[in-house]
Amino acid sequence: MSLKPEDFFKNVISHCKEYGYIFQSSEIYDGLSAVYDYGQNGAELKKNIREYWWKAMVQLHENIVGIDASIFMHPTTWKASGHVDAFNDPLIDNKDSKKRYRADVLIEDHVAKIEDKINKEVEKAKKRFENFDEAMFRSTNARVVEYQNKINDINTRFKTAMNASDLDAVKQLILDCEIVCPISGTRNWTDVRQFNLMFATQLGSVSDESSTIYLRPETAQGIFVNYSNVQKTGRMKIPFGIAQTGKAFRNEIVARQFIFRMREFEQMEMQFFVKPGTEMEWYEYWKKARLNWHLSLGLGETHYRYHDHIKLAHYANAACDIEFEFPFGFKELEGIHSRTDFDLKQHEEFSGKKLQYFDNEENRSYVPYVVETSVGLDRLFLSIMSSAYKEETLEGGETRSVLSLPPALAPIKAGVFPLIKRDGLPELAEQIVNALKLDHMVIYDEKDAVGKRYRRQDAIGTPYCITVDHQSLEDQTVTLRERDSMQQERVKIADLNRILDEKVSLKSLLKTLI
Ligand code: ATP
Repeated sequence: MSLKPEDFFKNVISHCKEYGYIFQSSEIYDGLSAVYDYGQNGAELKKNIREYWWKAMVQLHENIVGIDASIFMHPTTWKASGHVDAFNDPLIDNKDSKKRYRADVLIEDHVAKIEDKINKEVEKAKKRFENFDEAMFRSTNARVVEYQNKINDINTRFKTAMNASDLDAVKQLILDCEIVCPISGTRNWTDVRQFNLMFATQLGSVSDESSTIYLRPETAQGIFVNYSNVQKTGRMKIPFGIAQTGKAFRNEIVARQFIFRMREFEQMEMQFFVKPGTEMEWYEYWKKARLNWHLSLGLGETHYRYHDHIKLAHYANAACDIEFEFPFGFKELEGIHSRTDFDLKQHEEFSGKKLQYFDNEENRSYVPYVVETSVGLDRLFLSIMSSAYKEETLEGGETRSVLSLPPALAPIKAGVFPLIKRDGLPELAEQIVNALKLDHMVIYDEKDAVGKRYRRQDAIGTPYCITVDHQSLEDQTVTLRERDSMQQERVKIADLNRILDEKVSLKSLLKTLI
């Protein structure tokens, strides 16, 4: 039985809650919108993903180092980076429903509806004609051409209006497209306003303009302002990278799709400093390297695709997203951006300090160019969860929920069970737990029949279960059951540590990268 994507996604969300992965923040007070807490299993999975990223970046690259900058930064940082003036979303309210929307999202959704109509026409024609030439059909069918022209017209008008910061024109476009509020169904819209996505707060006890500071909306600026410190103290030679993971905050207007778009989230970013003129080489290098890293998780090649940006931010000379096929479609998972020398130059100008690199080989100083890789830890978590979650029907009609997490990332690596609660089996199982827990997260469980214990571990994604039975007392062997295949084999207790090392350690995953 295959579920509709939205129903499947609902099941993923409830599974996350039921098995201690993710809870709504402050749930006992009815929650806080677009803010989530990671539970006992979620925190482990998130830590393992972060560690895998960190080791792949910092430990495997001699020329990349990691830092941990503060969330609060000098307010001028955000002037220099452009966030104070330009980190805005255009928003509009419906006066009847009192609901707030992003104007660009309303327009994008409207365009998507027209695109759906085109796709339907194409599908209909595909069924009707043999040797169907889709490109030809799209360029000649009157209805399709009309829809396509409409889309082009809307996109051009929107782009022109945004480039000219003409918010009245954006509103007019919404009115001309006859876009209605999905809640009230009316076209009773307010004017469009720009809304800055940064959260502001006050530093110290005096509240005036000068003490306003921001919760960082991205971790990257903490790297840029530390560029010189790290380069000098680490005697780093170009090309080199600085990596960082940490919280970022954005007052997203339309926060939806669970942990895909949150107001408080975590980023894992790496800024790679290169000689001007070599940035495109490095951009291509990191594009490939980052996709390979994602593929190493084994979630399936077809779930990923590149989306090259055609319209570039003013500071970028190349940019692309690695998109992942979430249950709600292909969406951005990671951004790779060639940011030129924009950020360092801005910080030079605003701080009055030189942020240059003296290149011994060329005997000259320059401001390095930067290639950035930026991935959301929570989005990565969601990509892993939504491809790992399965409802299986077993022989005999029994069903099981299983999380086929990459073993090296699973919160618990093995469950250790005594078959029954007597005859010395619990004691031997405890001994095994004590021997394994120095290297791996393992748990002991003696409650319920062993089949039920297997199901519990399947549902939280534990890759192995180790069962101690009477034979174990005689020959020091146990059964080792693998989560996905449910195959069992008899192995020596003395080999367990080595087997887990091979199959579930981060090292096993890191090896695939080199
Ligand atoms: P989007 O277009 O989806 O808003 P973005 O282009 O603004 O994302 P970047 O500023 O490039 O995102 O941030 C880098 C990464 O941080 C994104 O690829 C994404 O994985 C993550 N990210 C950004 N905003 C959020 C958010 N509100 N919640 C969770 N993750 C986020």
